[in-house]
Amino acid sequence: MPIYEYACTVCEHGFERLRPISRMDDEVPCPKCDSESKRQLSVFAAFTSTGDGEYAPVGGGGGCAGCGPNGCGCAGGM
Ligand SMILES: [Zn+2]
Repeated sequence: MPIYEYACTVCEHGFERLRPISRMDDEVPCPKCDSESKRQLSVFAAFTSTGDGEYAPVGGGGGCAGCGPNGCGCAGGM
């Protein structure tokens, strides 16, 4: 299972959770205040080189560029 990052919408506490891909967008209770937390874009594959020394965001809300509805290219290699 991949690790996803979440951030509390109330106290802004950030934390990580191991979650099934199918549940990565589910809200997670904040470990500090038990409020809802939103998933953050993964640090693993959220950016890609544009070739000129700059970095640009990839995808639009998925876990990574290889993620699809039935699987993820980045999930199995760990
Ligand atoms: Zn919180």
